[in-house]
Amino acid sequence: MPRSKETARATLENLYRIFTVPEEPESTLGTIDQAISKDVAGFLQTHIVALERSLEEIEGDFSSSLIPEEPTFVSDYTGFVKEKLVAQSVHTAAPGFIGHMTSALPYFMLPLSRIMTALNQNTVKVETSKAFTPLERQVLAMLHRLVYRGDDAFYQQWIHDSRHALGAFCSGGTIANVTALWVARNRLFAPAGTFRGIGSEGLARALKHLDCEGVAVLVSKRGHYSFGKAADLLGIGRDNLVMVETDARNRIDMTLLKAEIRRLRAEKIRPLALIGIAGTTETGNVDPLEALADLAGEIGCHFHVDAAWGGPTLFSEGHRHLLEGIDRADSVTIDAHKQLYVPMGAGMVVFKDPTALSAIEHHANYILRHGSKDLGSHTLEGSRPGKAMLVHAGLSIIGRKGYELLIDLGIERAGSFAAMIRLHPDFELTSEPELNILTYRYCPRTLQELLARATTVQRDRINALLDQVNQLLQKYQREAGKTFVSRTRLRVSAYGLQEVTVLRAVLANPLTTDEVLQAVLAEQCAIVQQPEMAALLEHVEALSKEISSS
Ligand SMILES: *Cc1c(COP(=O)(O)O)cnc(C)c1O
Repeated sequence: MPRSKETARATLENLYRIFTVPEEPESTLGTIDQAISKDVAGFLQTHIVALERSLEEIEGDFSSSLIPEEPTFVSDYTGFVKEKLVAQSVHTAAPGFIGHMTSALPYFMLPLSRIMTALNQNTVKVETSKAFTPLERQVLAMLHRLVYRGDDAFYQQWIHDSRHALGAFCSGGTIANVTALWVARNRLFAPAGTFRGIGSEGLARALKHLDCEGVAVLVSKRGHYSFGKAADLLGIGRDNLVMVETDARNRIDMTLLKAEIRRLRAEKIRPLALIGIAGTTETGNVDPLEALADLAGEIGCHFHVDAAWGGPTLFSEGHRHLLEGIDRADSVTIDAHKQLYVPMGAGMVVFKDPTALSAIEHHANYILRHGSKDLGSHTLEGSRPGKAMLVHAGLSIIGRKGYELLIDLGIERAGSFAAMIRLHPDFELTSEPELNILTYRYCPRTLQELLARATTVQRDRINALLDQVNQLLQKYQREAGKTFVSRTRLRVSAYGLQEVTVLRAVLANPLTTDEVLQAVLAEQCAIVQQPEMAALLEHVEALSKEISSS
């Protein structure tokens, strides 16, 4: 706590100091700060060391539940930060880290985050966030305009309207999706006559009011797990989150969707919302948004588009057509901490109807008073940081054209990675990239040819072994810490109803070059040669001999 060795005691004078006097930069946390300011990429590269330690071993460093009694020196704590936290972190900014949606950040996000922390504004209310409240409203209007393309007059009217909000800024896509369904739920069960709305009277009475047995949310099998949480939280019930099968390109099957809606009708369950995904988390595909908008219009229910990942595709003149129909959505989720390259903890949901958020409006006497411009009256979260500042910075510094370049680059890179995989004798592409995500697996060409003419039983046996190979492959690669892909299980149309284990690559880091992608595949080929994998592959070999001789 105190800054010099003489004063490591809990005295008031020392307390005053830690709230006022910056520490000596050369002896404490300031050294890390300086190194990061000078060269963040270099810092991460040298200080995150791929230690051969398991998570269980690392847990040993965090095993005491005792709160330290005595103050300590910041410089002593610095050692912990360096050795236990930084060193044992995951290098998400590495160009070879292509497994998840978390990537490198533009360097200016670092000093801006520091400024944000120093100001420590709370955007729940104007009294603690003067400039930040209009700033957040501006950012929401910018994203709203990206999606809905309203005119100047529209935004002039609504951007700072004290009674409404064009969207809600939140900690991420999960809260954004929950907020969208919360609004949809409260609008379906809006106050009418003597019924005072679901928010006041609760679900049981709301169902009675509309004379139905339940409400359902419909999304494809590729829907994000946040909808399960939302269904649980909002009283919809996870059983009423209907996850519809997808077609060969991982898009919702409209015929099956319509059949589900008929089934729900027959069971007196009311569709609350249809969800279209613009960039599925696992495969990066886009649902047929126009067709979904038509259907939602026909059955009169809320249409939500989860564009947490794919939303920024709208920046690209060349690719925005992939999201055709998104402007017909009642609400759209966009994550800023994904393809807007903002640090973790920033998402948004925007609403086509600027009055929609009134459905969840909440007031309190000491803040969020009627007529105040407090953003907290229209958000699920209470106290929130001024993260909108970082989105504003990205939009201002990178600009529409900058984001367009990043989006185009990622889609192009995914295309070239797909080509690389198709040409490679040892890998099989399991989902074509539509945006910048693809899946593939270790499956040598000869095996692919055998699988094509194997019986279902033979095929499933080989695939079960390949699942193990790919699972181990992903694990060993992650543990080696040089490059990283993630894995998931998907139905692949060539292999029938059985799900297979696939490797997943997300190409959003502009520093990921084709050479890096070659290296990822080369490392995987090397891992497969390891003795631990040999036994498995011998099994595969034996099985394939059986097939080829039959
Ligand atoms: C990431 C993601 C989410 C969830 O967002 P969080 O920011 O992780 O809460 C929801 N939907 C899709 C399609 C996503 O890719």
